[in-house]
Amino acid sequence: MIKIGVLNLQGAVSEHVEMTLKAIENMGKNNEIVTEVVRYANEVAECNGIIISGGESTVIGKLIKERGIDKVIIENKIPVFGTCAGMVLLSKKTDYDQDILGIMDIEVKRNSFGRQRDSFENEINIFNYSYPGVFIRAPSVSSILNGNKNESSNIKNQVQILSVLDSNIIAVKQGNNIAMSFHPELTDDTRLHEYYLNQILELNNDN
Ligand code: GLN
Repeated sequence: MIKIGVLNLQGAVSEHVEMTLKAIENMGKNNEIVTEVVRYANEVAECNGIIISGGESTVIGKLIKERGIDKVIIENKIPVFGTCAGMVLLSKKTDYDQDILGIMDIEVKRNSFGRQRDSFENEINIFNYSYPGVFIRAPSVSSILNGNKNESSNIKNQVQILSVLDSNIIAVKQGNNIAMSFHPELTDDTRLHEYYLNQILELNNDN
């Protein structure tokens, strides 16, 4: 059984749980994937994937570090799907001094869309489809960093840009980690969650 943990330290967690459940249902994978709210390192260690929600990235990052969750994710190479604050936490560098996981070779600018557009909805394009994008004090990727030379020589380990809005990078993938500026869990569209879950299924079938 594949277990997807939704990290519940702070922020909009229940929507991700509901969305993951709906995505599992739509994929017809009730017998293969379960989802669970997780709060501590030992619970995270049992998961095949972790979702990090929106919220206050400084608070979530501090708790991740205090509880040793960062070590478990990094050592076990658990694929993370991070939305909004989750994107900030996945990055290697932010424009603010805070605790982060530092597992994607991206630099992130917090609250990147300016005051007048603190929150907005916009159609976005990803994988040649359009999706409803809900942005709430959203970050964006300000630059792609040069990762470890040996690792990034493998194309699979390079940062891939999945979506751009008004020249802001709003969705990226590196290895099995995915970061999005917006909130797919606040829509009715389960396709992005399904994309993440399919990737985890493939990964576990390969092993
Ligand atoms: N701006 C917030 C942060 O960096 C993220 C906002 C959100 O997750 N909706 O923590």
